[in-house]
Amino acid sequence: MKFSNLALSKEMLANLEDIGYKEMTEAQAQALPFILEGKDVVAQAKTGSGKTAAFGIGLLEKLDVKKFKPQSLVLCPTRELADQVAKELRLLARATHNVKILTLCGGAAFGPQLGSLRHGAHIVVGTCGRILKHLKKESLSLDELDILVLDEADRMLDMGFSDEINEILSFCKKRKQTLLFSATYTDEVKDIASTITHEAEFVKTTSKE
Ligand code: ADP
Ligand code: MG
Repeated sequence: MKFSNLALSKEMLANLEDIGYKEMTEAQAQALPFILEGKDVVAQAKTGSGKTAAFGIGLLEKLDVKKFKPQSLVLCPTRELADQVAKELRLLARATHNVKILTLCGGAAFGPQLGSLRHGAHIVVGTCGRILKHLKKESLSLDELDILVLDEADRMLDMGFSDEINEILSFCKKRKQTLLFSATYTDEVKDIASTITHEAEFVKTTSKE
């Protein structure tokens, strides 16, 4: 299935063509239509199946660029993965002018993050501990958050982040949509998925792509 089969903005379609994304991967073809409809999605797909663009296109298409407040939050297990997600989101956002994507990860200095947060952002990508620290210090507000994404949920749980995730959830009660991506669907992932999503569509890819 081609991206042009979906109701995407012409800027997004032109940009996808530009960056050489023609056909959707299986994960994208399964998850993106539900995401664009505003449904909660739990997606199980292997590494390399294009999960970032599956949720990234959804986040960007739903963004109100005029509103300079975090409207989506992407939680990742590690700083490296958060950087990769932010890089892919920036590539996808090239056609949407002035979309500010901010990464907030541990291991980076706290002070400069405060400055960036004062400046504002549309999308925040980061690791649980640092995101929670900013929430507690009220340097990050999720009052305008529409979409929460848990990327690599199985790894976050394996790394012992479930308490942090639960605490972060208490700051995003008003969200409209929750998306969970995972390479495996363990009992732990199933549990957290049922707690955080509402009437979610479950998608699972069979092939490598
Ligand atoms: P995952 O998160 O599932 O491991 P990624 O989102 O990191 O996978 O994507 C893997 C690679 O595939 C990236 O290099 C990305 O740029 C590329 N990619 C994603 N979607 C497409 C597409 N529709 N067509 C071509 N390449 C794609
Ligand atoms: Mg990924």
